[in-house]
Amino acid sequence: MRKYICTICNTDFDMTTPDDTCPNCGGRLEKVGKARTELIKAEQQLFGFVASSKGDSIVDLVSAMKLTQEEWNKLRDGDASYMPDGLKQLVDEYFTTKGEDI
Ligand SMILES: [Zn+2]
Repeated sequence: MRKYICTICNTDFDMTTPDDTCPNCGGRLEKVGKARTELIKAEQQLFGFVASSKGDSIVDLVSAMKLTQEEWNKLRDGDASYMPDGLKQLVDEYFTTKGEDI
């Protein structure tokens, strides 16, 4: 979805106006969707790095994220080549022993 933000009053909009101006203050609207998504990804990576450096295991992280089995399957079967097989196994075991608690 395209997102826009006013460069003057910082109001968020889901769509642009015909002349790309803010209905509230007349400021210029800028597209921000991608940048914001990238920022969230960066924050998640930083979060993971800090958690890991504090001694949290991958299972602690998966648990803290409240990742579901279904979500994990999507990630594991997607482009998870960055994750060593040993770590994938740990997460698989976590979901196997966790049981169905949804
Ligand atoms: Zn504005």
